[in-house]
Amino acid sequence: AQHLLARAHAHSGLGAYLALNEEATLAQAAAADARLAAGERGPLLGVPLAHKDVLVTRDFPTSAGSKMLQGYRSPFDATVVARLAAEGAVTLGKLNCDEFAMGSGNDQSAYGPAHNPWDVARVPGGSSGGSAVAVAARLAPAATGTDTGGSIRQPASFCGITGIKPSYGRCSRYGLVAYASSLDQAGPMARSALDCALLLTAMAGPDLDRDSTSLEHPPEDYTRLLGQPWPGASAARPLQGLRIGLPREFFGPGCDADVLAAVRAALSEYERLGATLLDIDLPRTELAIPAYYIIAPAEASSNLSRYDGVRYGHRAAEHGDLLDLYQRSRSEAFGPEVQRRILLGTYVLSHGYYDAYYLKAQQIRRLIAQDFQSAFSHCDLIAGPVAPSVAWAIGAKTADPLSAYLADIYTLPASLAGLPGLSLPAGFGAGRMPVGLQLIGNYLSEARLLQVAHQLQ
Ligand code: GLN
Repeated sequence: AQHLLARAHAHSGLGAYLALNEEATLAQAAAADARLAAGERGPLLGVPLAHKDVLVTRDFPTSAGSKMLQGYRSPFDATVVARLAAEGAVTLGKLNCDEFAMGSGNDQSAYGPAHNPWDVARVPGGSSGGSAVAVAARLAPAATGTDTGGSIRQPASFCGITGIKPSYGRCSRYGLVAYASSLDQAGPMARSALDCALLLTAMAGPDLDRDSTSLEHPPEDYTRLLGQPWPGASAARPLQGLRIGLPREFFGPGCDADVLAAVRAALSEYERLGATLLDIDLPRTELAIPAYYIIAPAEASSNLSRYDGVRYGHRAAEHGDLLDLYQRSRSEAFGPEVQRRILLGTYVLSHGYYDAYYLKAQQIRRLIAQDFQSAFSHCDLIAGPVAPSVAWAIGAKTADPLSAYLADIYTLPASLAGLPGLSLPAGFGAGRMPVGLQLIGNYLSEARLLQVAHQLQ
């Protein structure tokens, strides 16, 4: 922990951390040492890691990347944080992210950008950018992230690490600062599928008293299939029998050639290991963008109404009546992207527009989920790119939100359907920047996704 804290200071220019608390970290490390000395053993006992700053922590402030929550200290730990701590993991600090997890480049953080360690002039992806930077730059062996529409998978892809967004409900959302509640899901980001599996085993599991949308399924050991051949396959061709579906819509003209080349090279490795590749259709892929950018802002506008400058959050120093207090506090403390989403969300939920936008988007969401189920009737998992390009230059999309929204096309469908999705390193594209391969599985197939990812690592 001391070594990694020193690294965090030495590389503070990467913008990975928003908060450190050396005293708290060293106290947690001492407690883990005591458990080790008492003979306790466990894969995470004494392992330092760091948390995305949308997961609340007692020992560290939680800002959600926003001025609104600057200096906020939660009286409790998020369930996923508490579960990792119970396994003896030691918290190094809190990691940079886009404000309230709204963004794709970590360029929407109120505390400045995080930098991609492969090329510091480029974004690390987002919104879990700080998590990806910390792992890729070896500031932390692993980190938590959250994914509403791609925020674990896309930064993992841009920084050359592995990350998994579990099925919706696998990990409790208790203590996860809400963005879009029907989509938000926490998950691990690490160097390998094995490390992700170790973290997920601790993080996942029911928490029904605190998050009624958490799934009732009992905890699983997500490492159990790693290194195992696919059912019925031999050790020589360990993926014999695995059918990987490639959605035509993910391999079309919208994806950069360098990304497709890296993805196809990784897929041919899977073929060599015995897997069968087959073309499939996810015909409503394009509609995922408008559907998501209606549903997510709608939920965000409702969730963010709690920041009124009265109960908690920033309060304007000068104000007139109550309405003026709300207006000033929210105008001062929410950044431009958050304000844009609140406006969008309020509009699509308003009387007269609800049926035309919000209801329509929910119908499309249902159809997208059905398209996945048809696909899974003839393949075991789905593979494709995570994003249509490698990491872009910092600032390139900051003033053009629509171009950032469009780049989410391959991650949004699984989010809308609530399916698990994983990003693993697949090689390099233009500028020798990392490219990720995305694997999407059916509900609750995380152990299978990790098994298949592990075969390439
Ligand atoms: N880029 C998407 C958005 O801005 C996804 C973000 C996320 O998954 N938190 O909403």
